[in-house]
Amino acid sequence: MKSLQEIVDKGKRIVFFGGAGVSTESGIPDFRGAGGIFMEEQEIPPEAVLSESFFYLHPEAFFAFYRKKLLYPEARPNAAHRKLWELERAGKLLGIVTQNIDGLHRMAGNRLVFEIHGSVHRNFCMDCGREYPMRFVLESAGIPRCECGGVVKPDVVLYGEALDPPTMRGAMRVISQADVLIVAGTSLSVSPAAEFLKNFSGRELVVINREALNLEEKATLPLRGSVAEVMGRIRVEI
Ligand code: NAD
Ligand code: ZN
Repeated sequence: MKSLQEIVDKGKRIVFFGGAGVSTESGIPDFRGAGGIFMEEQEIPPEAVLSESFFYLHPEAFFAFYRKKLLYPEARPNAAHRKLWELERAGKLLGIVTQNIDGLHRMAGNRLVFEIHGSVHRNFCMDCGREYPMRFVLESAGIPRCECGGVVKPDVVLYGEALDPPTMRGAMRVISQADVLIVAGTSLSVSPAAEFLKNFSGRELVVINREALNLEEKATLPLRGSVAEVMGRIRVEI
């Protein structure tokens, strides 16, 4: 079995496909045991709160949960994000496809990023389209409102909503052109994550995750462990 270092050294068009596990070491928890909210003595799981129907039916409860569980203004890129920025600067990275909405890849410097579930850093008025930063949503009370009175909605794909077609096409394109695909920190349980990976036909599939995944069987290099530790050890010549 080749080492990750050998695979990266030989790779010319590397694509990184990541999920919540890429950011846990930046202090942002994944959804495992994250807990939902209680309404009328009923526990509503995070997937239900973060759905399109819940947003329209209970906007106050949605935003309370959203501020508490999805916004981490103090979070900073970790060793995995930083290594991907080195790979982009070295001209070896074709792109990052992320399910994360935390914006940490862009904060690390990467520009070749497809945020397929959107980003907490972009928020738009549903009436006039004006854009607002994360801080505005964080610091407003109750339902964040635009100057015009419209509701300011985070540009985050809620369960039940469609993904942005240009972002999806871009993500599919880089995955289909990749010679190396690194899949890291994702349980691949949120569709259409697994669908994306079907477009890959390159030589090397690397899987980095703390827990076992079915995808490991297809991997040329399955690695169990911390994403930041494993990625952080790669040496990149710039
Ligand atoms: P997930 O929570 O379903 O799976 C995360 C996987 O990563 C798990 O298998 C876990 O064992 C593994 N993991 C956690 N920390 C790790 C680490 N440090 N090193 C190695 N492996 C680690 O996450 P998902 O597949 O991304 O799907 C959840 C959905 O929730 C996605 O849509 C995602 O956008 C969203 N989400 C995003 C964030 C974020 O933006 N940071 C955080 C939580 C959830
Ligand atoms: Zn407005």
